Amino acid sequence: MDEIKKLVDFSRLAWDRKLTEGTGGNMSFKKEDRIYITPTTTVKHFLGGEDIVILSTSGEVIFGKRQPSSEYRMHVKIYETCPDVSAVFHAHPVYATSYAIMHKKLPEDLLPEVAFFLAPITYLPYRMPGTDEFADVFVEGLEAGSRVFVLQNHGATTVAENIEQAYAKLETLEFLAQLSYITGAEPGKLEIDRQEIERFLNHVKSS
Ligand SMILES: [Zn+2]
Repeated sequence: MDEIKKLVDFSRLAWDRKLTEGTGGNMSFKKEDRIYITPTTTVKHFLGGEDIVILSTSGEVIFGKRQPSSEYRMHVKIYETCPDVSAVFHAHPVYATSYAIMHKKLPEDLLPEVAFFLAPITYLPYRMPGTDEFADVFVEGLEAGSRVFVLQNHGATTVAENIEQAYAKLETLEFLAQLSYITGAEPGKLEIDRQEIERFLNHVKSS
């Protein structure tokens, strides 16, 4: 299936571009009533189509040579909450995770594409990975329309209508965190004037 290849390709790309480390991170897509997810403890650079595990929408393993990621509950909860979401990327990018550790917020009006493509970013409190509490903490932000999450002392999760967009949000988030770190930008400092951002957003919406 083309989407399985796409999931493998973009998961490998995330590892190759240092958006996650070691065996960290987990990625999935949903098609009809199935969730296709990366397996547990895998260095994503070496991921293959045969490693992908197929789950029901409630999280039972339907097919897989491997065990699913221990974070499968987060993926199940996100798809259950947002029927328009078809892909979830979770990773530990260095700069975005550093902001999550420092409990610092990122400037959403630093670049036009960030204001358009990432905002609003939701900052989630620490919860033990792999648990229902960890999965449940996403619901409020998702229902409020957020598609980008920075997870305190952990990493980041991005969700979208397809694999490429979920990946792109993750990479753009890390780009924002790197620029913010290098320039010292923060909310209210070095950002584009809010009126200009709104002008841009209206322009994008009407074109
Ligand atoms: Zn993680």
